[in-house]
Amino acid sequence: MADVQLDGIRKAYGSLEILRDIDLEIEHGEFVVFVGPSGSGKSTLLRMIGGLEHISGGTLKIDSRVVNRVDAADRNLGMVFQSYALYPHLSVRDNLAFPLRMAKARKEEIAVKVGNAAKLLQIEHLLDRKPKQLSGGQRQRVAIGRAIVREPKVFLFDEPLSNLDTELRVQMRVQIAKLHRQLGNTMIYVTHDQVEAMTMADKIVVLKDGRIEQVGSPHDLYHKPATQFVAGFIGSPR
Ligand code: ADP
Ligand code: MG
Repeated sequence: MADVQLDGIRKAYGSLEILRDIDLEIEHGEFVVFVGPSGSGKSTLLRMIGGLEHISGGTLKIDSRVVNRVDAADRNLGMVFQSYALYPHLSVRDNLAFPLRMAKARKEEIAVKVGNAAKLLQIEHLLDRKPKQLSGGQRQRVAIGRAIVREPKVFLFDEPLSNLDTELRVQMRVQIAKLHRQLGNTMIYVTHDQVEAMTMADKIVVLKDGRIEQVGSPHDLYHKPATQFVAGFIGSPR
């Protein structure tokens, strides 16, 4: 059963069409990367799946349920964006606990889940610090931790590493891949970086001008690019 299913999804702002004919199935446990140049519609598509953006046409299903309304609370998702958006006045511990408090979880449950997330992301020693006392990479780990405390079935990432320097980016890629292996959940990851796409994805969705250009494994895209654009973007020798 597909976790996320898009049928003929469309997005327009007035007469400006920015996504068209988007058909896609994402299976449970898959690591799917949306890749494409700036302006190709990656973030908009992710935000529609996340319930943050109105859908102009087509059907979006999560867990076989139609969820076309704009409502992030009706689907079990965790989201991490480029800007960390941690609460500056709260400690790391309270930042991690925040989504659980909002969901009215019990105190003991909050303590256990915050502890588990902190362990998984190796930020246990940072729990009493404030965000301004953390490095960029540490902040991003806290942001990821905050997205996983509610144990969402599906994670959405929008260019989560683009503010980090190269070395840290490589470390975080490894960490996210490890997290995916440990949690076994579905991850949808947006990037304009083809290296990130090729190294992290089970399945890559190449977007161009609001349409899907090709869907396939990194191996498929490299060896059998469907178009010159894909070949050029992925860097295969075609
Ligand atoms: P990407 O994430 O691939 O860079 P986006 O999804 O952010 O692309 O944007 C896709 C296109 O939609 C761009 O041309 C962008 O200018 C346009 N767009 C995004 N948001 C709006 C908006 N609120 N109103 C009008 N156009 C928008
Ligand atoms: Mg974007």
